[in-house]
Parts: sequence; structure tokens; C-alpha cells
Amino acid sequence: MEMDEHKRRRNMILYVLIALAVYLVLNTLLFPNMRQQSQITEVSYSTLLSDLDDKKVSEVDYTTGGADVLYRRKGEGDDVAYHTTALPGSEDYLLEKIEAAGAEIDVTIPSNDSSLWTYYLLTLFLPIGVFLLLGWWLNRRMKKAMGDDGPSMNFGSGGFGGMGGGLGKSGARIVASKDVGVTFKDVAGQEEAKESLKEVVDFLENPKRYEDIGARLPRGALLVGPPGTGKTLLAKAVAGEAGVPFFSISGSEFVEMFVGRGAAKVRDLFKQANEKAPCIVFIDEIDAVGKRRDAGLSTNDEREQTLNQLLTEMDGFDNHKGIVVLAATNRPDSLDPALLRPGRFDRRIPVELPDLAGRKAILELHAKDVKTQPPIDLSAIARATPGASGADLSNIINEGALRAVRQGRSRATQDDFEESVEVVIAGQQRKSTVLSDHEKQVVSYHEIGHAIVAANMKEGAPVTKITIVPRTSGALGYTMQVEEDEKFLTTKQEVLDKLAVYCGGRAAEELIFGEMTTGAANDIEQATKLARNMITRFGMSEEFGMMALGTVQNAYLSQDTSLTCAPGTAERVDDAVKKVIDEAHKRALQILKENKFKLHELARYLYKKETITGDEFMTLLKRENPLMPPKPQA
Ligand code: ADP
Ligand code: MG
Ligand code: ZN
Repeated sequence: MEMDEHKRRRNMILYVLIALAVYLVLNTLLFPNMRQQSQITEVSYSTLLSDLDDKKVSEVDYTTGGADVLYRRKGEGDDVAYHTTALPGSEDYLLEKIEAAGAEIDVTIPSNDSSLWTYYLLTLFLPIGVFLLLGWWLNRRMKKAMGDDGPSMNFGSGGFGGMGGGLGKSGARIVASKDVGVTFKDVAGQEEAKESLKEVVDFLENPKRYEDIGARLPRGALLVGPPGTGKTLLAKAVAGEAGVPFFSISGSEFVEMFVGRGAAKVRDLFKQANEKAPCIVFIDEIDAVGKRRDAGLSTNDEREQTLNQLLTEMDGFDNHKGIVVLAATNRPDSLDPALLRPGRFDRRIPVELPDLAGRKAILELHAKDVKTQPPIDLSAIARATPGASGADLSNIINEGALRAVRQGRSRATQDDFEESVEVVIAGQQRKSTVLSDHEKQVVSYHEIGHAIVAANMKEGAPVTKITIVPRTSGALGYTMQVEEDEKFLTTKQEVLDKLAVYCGGRAAEELIFGEMTTGAANDIEQATKLARNMITRFGMSEEFGMMALGTVQNAYLSQDTSLTCAPGTAERVDDAVKKVIDEAHKRALQILKENKFKLHELARYLYKKETITGDEFMTLLKRENPLMPPKPQA
């Protein structure tokens, strides 16, 4: 209810601001003119007489009768007039004088009284009228935006009387979009999800076939997966494929927009769906309403009511008519179990991060809209982007196109896309960061340290690029490693190797400069996370074996784990993590010591060139050095 109050207050402020603006405009543009028109100065009768004598008078209004005389002077314009009272019995004399002065007499100068009256009428009632109209219009607009029985600002009758949140029923509702303009063709990869949804499409197209055989189709399907994998896109595509109306609402809208009326909104939504069936009802980010109801301290009546209504409606609707409720979330673990039971969202459609083939397909789909300069090798981009979501990939293509425009080219090249991969991973190049000479050296050794350790591992992804150009993300340089093929399993040895590679940067700094810098912070974070997972989740330690010591909190969002063990065990886990990292560090140091000569040579080379390719790196690394004794072959 607090939100309700907020919303209303915001609308009030908006209204007052608009009203004030309108008033100011009227006041500065319209009213002064009006007032001037009737600006009448009181003068004495003798002034009139002397004005007449001096032939200063241009026109006289004698129509008011009696003794009242209004007149204007020559050359003073229409907005100035004078008023005086003639002496009783002097009318004839005055008429003569006026004639003698050659002033016009058949004119009407708006009299004081009547002009004042119009003035007040306009300055007082016009604004009120305008504001009432404005209020009515705003009210209507808001109702439209917020659905019926909304907190209405009912200015039309009785001022602000409606502010208490009218509960009237009106026609404003969630509107179904008829043509979503998206079909399965617009979704690349995600073949399994599409396969599942094709059945839904078929059901929507001919519900009768399913009914005839007595099959009961799922009422609801829940699309689960990390952000940006195309869940919203898929739901739209289902509607587009089936050509049915698409009611779309996001869970947060229930919470935010329909405060206090979430339950009513749900009822209304399903009522409409019933009328429009066959159709799709899509609830995006359903976790906002569908969060597990628990006996915890933070109960949220509002949300619970909305959820309850949703549960009721999902049980109640007649799905022979062809209504399918789709919902999307990236936090399936937090959903109320009641939502997931059969008859509700019983079908769960995973929409995972795309694999290599999927990434390539998504890149191709989005690159279709971009003018490119061959040769373009999108599979190279796909290989360099493990873990990227569809949204990331579409962003990479777009960033590439933007880069081409920035450089004044009409076509995007492979270079553009490769650079934009780095932009998406590490941020834009930051030209403003000027490293000191020493810092540049440290970064060069650090990156080459990573690269040499990586190159000395039997397996593991080859180094593809090393750079010491600072990025907006704060990275002062980085070493890019790209797997040849997609990896689904990682062995313990590979994990250990990876840890050593993480340690390689710091190890090189220590070895060459005998000092530590803050540059390794990110490496340390990554290494610690990996080492901890090794022990708590992958069962790769002798001490704990296959015991799970932590659970993943949110599989699709952060992958963060929380420990589920006793405090004493947690301490031992920390010790084990430290041991693993220490060993990796030692190993990295050892490798670099053995390759110190190459470390110097390559770091100097990188320092000079700032960015080198993986090929350059490997050629230099493998080159026999004439000054060094040949390595004994093992
Ligand atoms: P989600 O709802 O899962 O967070 P969206 O459906 O909103 O993700 O996807 C965001 C954008 O990313 C889409 O509009 C689309 O441009 C792009 N995208 C994501 N996945 C795909 C895909 N599989 N194929 C094509 N484009 C995709
Ligand atoms: Mg979405
Ligand atoms: Zn590093």
C-alpha cells in the first residue's frame, strides 16, 4: 500500500506542475493584454477640458449616459483610456467642445465595470476550467495506463475527492497484441525449447484434435534460464507462430503498477483471455509474484493475494478453448511449489545459454541485418564467446556495426566484431588511462606470465590474444584464451592448470620485480572461486571427497554458492582452498623460472607492440634462442 501512496503523490505532483505551467503561460501571455485593454485612469473633469482644448483627445465614449465620460488620447494606443465625471448640466457644452477638438465620439470604450467582469471571468474561471479539463484528461490517461479500478484522480467532480483510490470499474485493461511480429525464425539455437513449444503452437492452432483424442495439454509452460537467453522472445514467437492474441504482462508490473489490485488484475486478465481464446497469456519475470510463500517474517499480503488468485485462475480456466499460459523466470528455485504442480506450470522448458553451434546461429541471425565486408568468420566469434547469452551476442554484432560507423565505414568487418567481443568482455579501450613506463612494464610481464604458464599446460585453451591496452572495465590488460572446441566437462587436472594460469600474472611480477601490485585482484578472485568450487562442489579434494559442502544459490543468475557445512568444517574448507591456490602459485612460479628468458623477451615484445596475437606469441615462444643452451628434450 505504500507504493500506492507513492504513485498517487507522484501523480499529484505531476498534475500540480502541469497546472502551474499552464497558469504561468496564461498569465504571461494572455492576461496582461486583457488587463491593459481596460487600463483606465481616473482624471479630473478639468483635465478632460484642457485635453480637448489642446486637441489631444482622439476618441470619446459618451454612450454610458449620465455624467460618465471615457476618452482616449491621441498617440497613446488602445490600451490606455481615461475616465472622468462631467459636471451636471454641462453635457451640451462638452459636446460642443468635443466637436471643436475634432475627436471621434461614436466609439465604445470598454467600461471599467464590464472589463473588470470579463477580466475576473477569464483570470479566475478560465484556469479553473482548464485545470478541470486537464484533470479529467490525466485521470482518463492514467486509468488507461493502469487498468480499471485504479487509484483515480477524480478532479472532474468534487476537486480531489477521488484521490482515495476509486474502485470504479472501467474498460482500461491489459491489451492483447494481435501481431507480435516474431516467429521461431527469429530465435536461433534453442532447438529443444522450440521443439517443446511447437506442440503448444499446434495445440493453439487446432485444439480440437487434442480434445478429440482426450489428451490434456499442459495449461502452462515455464521458460527457465539465465537472463538474455531469449525467453521473452520465445514466448512471443509462439504467439506469432500460432497467430493468436498475446496477453503479455510482467510480474513486476503486478507488484508495481497494480498495487492493491493485483488479484483483480489477474482475474481480469483471465476473463479477457477466455473471451479471446485461443490465445496466449504470458507472464514475464513471474518470480516477482510467484515467490515462495513462507512463514518467514517478511510476509507480503499483496503479493500473496495476487499469487493465490493466479493459482485459482490457472485451475479454473477451460483449456479446451485453447488458452496457454506461458511464464518466464531466471529464478525457478524461488517459485512457489504450488505454481509448479501438475495442472499449472507443469511443463518446464529450459532455455539455456547457447552452445557453440547455437552461438554461431544467433550471431548469423543478427549479422543478417548488418552490412558486412567479407571475409567474415562468425564461428571464430562464437568460439571466443563461451558463456555469452543471446542478448550478449546480439549486442556484439551491434557494437561491431557501431564501431564501423564510428570509423566512417559503410560495412562492418571481422575486426569490428572481434573488437566488440572484447568490448563486451572487458569494456571499451580507454585511451585516457596513461600508464607510467614502469606500470606498463609490470602489466606486460603480468600478462606474459599468464600466457607462458598457459602455454606450458598440456591441455587447455590456446592463447589467442594478449594486450596491455587499458579497458573501461578497469582491466589494464588481458590474455585471451579460446578453446578450440566446446568443453562440457573439465577434469581435475584442467582445473588445477587453470588455477596455475590465474596465478601466472602475479608470479611473473614477483619473479621479475620482487613486488606485488593490485593488478592481480581479479585473478585472485577468480582463482579463489574456482578453488572453492573444486572442494565444495566438484568433490575434488582428498580431505572431503565427494561431500557437497555448498549449494548453488541461484543457478541462473550468479552461480554463487553458500556453504552448508558446520563452522568447523568451513574453516577446514578455507584451509584446503588456500592449500590448492598456494600449490598453483608455486607451480606457476616454477614454470616462469624455467622460462625466465622467454618471459623477458616476450614481455619486452608486448611492451613495444601493446597487442599481440596468439600466433605471434607462439612463434616467439617456440623460437630457438641462440643465446640459450638448447633445452634437454624429455
Ligand atoms: P530473456 O527474456 O531470456 O531475458 P530476451 O528474450 O529478452 O531474453 O532476449 C533479449 C534479446 O536477445 C532478444 O531480443 C534478441 O535480440 C536476443 N536473443 C536472445 N536469445 C536469442 C536467440 N536464441 N536468438 C536470437 N536472438 C536472441
Ligand atoms: Mg525476458
Ligand atoms: Zn592477470
